[in-house]
Amino acid sequence: MSDTLIITEIYASIQGESSYAGLPCTFVRLTGCPLRCRWCDTTYGFYGGTETSLSDILSSVKKLGVSLVELTGGEPLAQKNCPSLAKALIDEGHKVLIETGGSEDVSSLDPNVHIIMDIKCPGSQMHEKNRWENLNHLKPTDEIKMVLADRADFEWAMLKIKEHRLTERFKVLLSPAFGLLKPKDLAEWIVAEKLDVRLNLQQHKYIWHPRAKGV
Ligand code: SF4
Repeated sequence: MSDTLIITEIYASIQGESSYAGLPCTFVRLTGCPLRCRWCDTTYGFYGGTETSLSDILSSVKKLGVSLVELTGGEPLAQKNCPSLAKALIDEGHKVLIETGGSEDVSSLDPNVHIIMDIKCPGSQMHEKNRWENLNHLKPTDEIKMVLADRADFEWAMLKIKEHRLTERFKVLLSPAFGLLKPKDLAEWIVAEKLDVRLNLQQHKYIWHPRAKGV
């Protein structure tokens, strides 16, 4: 079927990251990802999944009754029908967020989709996959997220923020890679460098077990 997507899970929880953190949110997790970040916490979403029609996805989301919806993965944009799903959800009256790893083209997304795009740092071992031209397709309200594994990633992030004027153009979130970098260290570095960025903690990992699925 032409209007299907491969889905790992659809569930309601609390949005754990971004400027929407803390809000109830329905998550639609699309299966598969072309990247292999060293610290990936959703490896269970790489394979398997269920081929699901767009109308069945819409109906599952409707049943959960939460108006904020996030498309995530894996890498949602690795599936060609992802932009159509985002548009259909918007047409149903949802506020739609998408979390993308930054290696896939974001230009086909409806302008009403709120994009949270990773820029991969060297500690992920995926930084050569960053699709820098995506920056030209983001809106000022969209968000850039950089997950840092250590001080070297922090130094790299500061260089890229300056080089691409990221904090002047977008909201920028810096996240400590869970279990690799202490939030306290990153908080102190941000303050010391007076960076105009938001410290981004993965709230769901503090509320539930860090490896819990479906939360
Ligand atoms: S892009 Fe996301 S899902 Fe893919 S490997 Fe990296 S962290 Fe995991």
